[in-house]
Amino acid sequence: MNITRQLDADGICTLTFDREGSSANVFDRATLMQLDALLTSLENEPALRGIILASAKDKIFIAGADLHEFVRSPDPESLGGIVDLGHRVFTRLQKLPVPSVAAIHGACLGGGCELALACDWRVASTGKPTKIGLPETQLGIIPAWGGSIRLPALIGLPAALGMILPGRQLVGAQALKLGLVDQLAHPEYLLATARKLLAAGKRTPRAVSLASSTPLKHLVASKARRDVLAKTHGHYPAPLKAIEVCTATLGRSLEEGFALEKAAFLELIRTPECRNLLSVFFLQERAKKLPAPAGSTAHPVRRVAVVGAGVMGAGIAQWSSARSLPVILKDVAPDALARGLRTIETVYREGAKRRVFTVAEATAGFDRITPVSTAIPLTSVDLVIEAAVEKLEAKQAIFRDLETRVRPDTVLATNTSALSIDAIAQTLTHPERVIGIHFFNPVHRMQLVEIVRGPRTSPDTVATALQFTKALGKLPVIVNDSPGFLVNRILMPYLVEAVRLFREGHSPAAIDHVMLDFGMPMGPLRLADEVGLDVALHVAKDLAQRLPSSGPLDDTLDQMIAKGWLGKKSGRGFYIHNTRSRHPAPNPDLGFLIPRPSRSSSPSSADTLRDRLVLIMVNEAARCLAEDVVAFPEDVDFGMILGTGWAPFRGGPLRYADSLGVASVVSRLDALARDIAPHFAPCDRLRAMSGDNLTFYPPAP
Ligand code: NAD
Repeated sequence: MNITRQLDADGICTLTFDREGSSANVFDRATLMQLDALLTSLENEPALRGIILASAKDKIFIAGADLHEFVRSPDPESLGGIVDLGHRVFTRLQKLPVPSVAAIHGACLGGGCELALACDWRVASTGKPTKIGLPETQLGIIPAWGGSIRLPALIGLPAALGMILPGRQLVGAQALKLGLVDQLAHPEYLLATARKLLAAGKRTPRAVSLASSTPLKHLVASKARRDVLAKTHGHYPAPLKAIEVCTATLGRSLEEGFALEKAAFLELIRTPECRNLLSVFFLQERAKKLPAPAGSTAHPVRRVAVVGAGVMGAGIAQWSSARSLPVILKDVAPDALARGLRTIETVYREGAKRRVFTVAEATAGFDRITPVSTAIPLTSVDLVIEAAVEKLEAKQAIFRDLETRVRPDTVLATNTSALSIDAIAQTLTHPERVIGIHFFNPVHRMQLVEIVRGPRTSPDTVATALQFTKALGKLPVIVNDSPGFLVNRILMPYLVEAVRLFREGHSPAAIDHVMLDFGMPMGPLRLADEVGLDVALHVAKDLAQRLPSSGPLDDTLDQMIAKGWLGKKSGRGFYIHNTRSRHPAPNPDLGFLIPRPSRSSSPSSADTLRDRLVLIMVNEAARCLAEDVVAFPEDVDFGMILGTGWAPFRGGPLRYADSLGVASVVSRLDALARDIAPHFAPCDRLRAMSGDNLTFYPPAP
């Protein structure tokens, strides 16, 4: 039973969604059929005065359609049948002679939002879990159960596109402002408020707003199209299709609109972009359920300490405190501590401005942080995360000191970017409780966390770190302790190759453009500026020493750093950064670096540049698998997409390799090794796979 029905003495029927054996409600064929049958029974109910749709779950109204169903029966007839069924059932609800209201608490996304849109009224709870949106374009499809029709009709075309194109999810207050919901209520008064809304009767459709009328709607659509193309370089067909469908259906009958929605959905679901975006969604779901090592026990983490209040320490302290954990934030330098607290305050203030927190929640979060700059006992904390300077001796000294201050069962974690976990633990009495918990910068935006297991890290320590990471709402990937772990190991050869290309005479803008065109969110040299040229060089040198396959490092970054150019933080790197412009201009003074032409006599085409930058990552990704840095190709692709924004529509470096064909990857790398430099030589794993005609993933059915 997924929906329960309760008709009261006033003739108000509450339909409560409660999927058995799951914390989430999702729409699948069976639930739609059940809703259909319930509507039939209600149509024959003479006492009926109104319908309330609600959820029995804590954090979810209805999270969307069951995407597994799309993958299980991908034939157009079956998928078309599900689209038709949704259209029919939701329209039945809309056309009932009695009013209906969606009482929304928790995630109301995709199909859940489309169901709510088919109701006459909507009330949203002010509770934290409430978020409302149509995120379908992020999965390569469009809202196709009436959302592309009903949302623009309700809130106007510009606002609807503003939600649908980026897949924006709104908290209750934002939804109220847009007119997407009619009222807000404290979760406790949600049903009572819904009941009151029913007293207003059926809703009379609003007149079409000016911006949604012809010809203005075409102007809105063409501006939206330009914006999408500028952002996506044309790689994502779904937002473009959404603009087309939302615009075309305005002013037409529901039936005509449904036909357009269905045709667009069936066209999009067959695209490789959609397949890859769906696979990214499933990888995220997989990370949420990542199992702890067999036989291990996770210890509860109720209090944490963060050592180092710099960029990362402040970020980790803020994020942990926002998830209700009391945090001791320690730094040796009082001014660094003060700076860290200011950073934390800014993140909270901006979160409150964007309504991620109420002001009271932000204040309470900030107050959960206790700053200290002297040595204190840490027996009250369950887990320490060290985020001090990236120097092995310094970290070893910090861990030796920590061991004397914490309880015997406290987990000691480091946020090191690349240092060996085992080396950090080696002088300790209990190395088994040391682990890497590697957050990415900025902590409040990046979802990925690498959990780095040293050779002596105990299964219980891994389980505790995993549980802690999940409780923070981050997505973990478990990696073995090896140089650069997973993400930096694959990213660094790419950044170094981009620097080499620059030194060969290509402009930073041209190099970055090639990768933006490929689908990266940012070009490699702009990324190097963001990371910090000093940090990038430090990691690159460390990896070059420890990984024999790394190519040679030239002196470009050394020379730039010697001039004080550290990238964004110093205002100058490959680009000039100033706070007024979001698009930094190229640094005009890079000419002092004498070009070092490539060994190849022919000029490099954009295709060669792309191959050099992308295939160097594919090669390193294959090495990570061969060396058991991670266990599965899924881990590699997930890590790179979540950790670096690696073109999600291509599915990650290993899926990309499959799409090219491993044999083709090997022959292109061989050509680069011959024409450009030996470090492009394909690794043994790729060569063996090519010989046996293998792929990283099983071929699609
Ligand atoms: P940072 O230089 O901004 O901050 C380091 C802080 O540690 C400073 O405030 C310093 O005063 C403090 N510190 C130094 N020694 C200390 C000690 N003994 N006890 C307490 N505090 C001490 O550095 P960051 O960028 O925040 O990096 C911190 C760690 O996180 C490094 O290991 C780095 O490799 C890693 N990391 C950095 C990033 C990034 O993008 N910055 C990303 C992931 C991981």
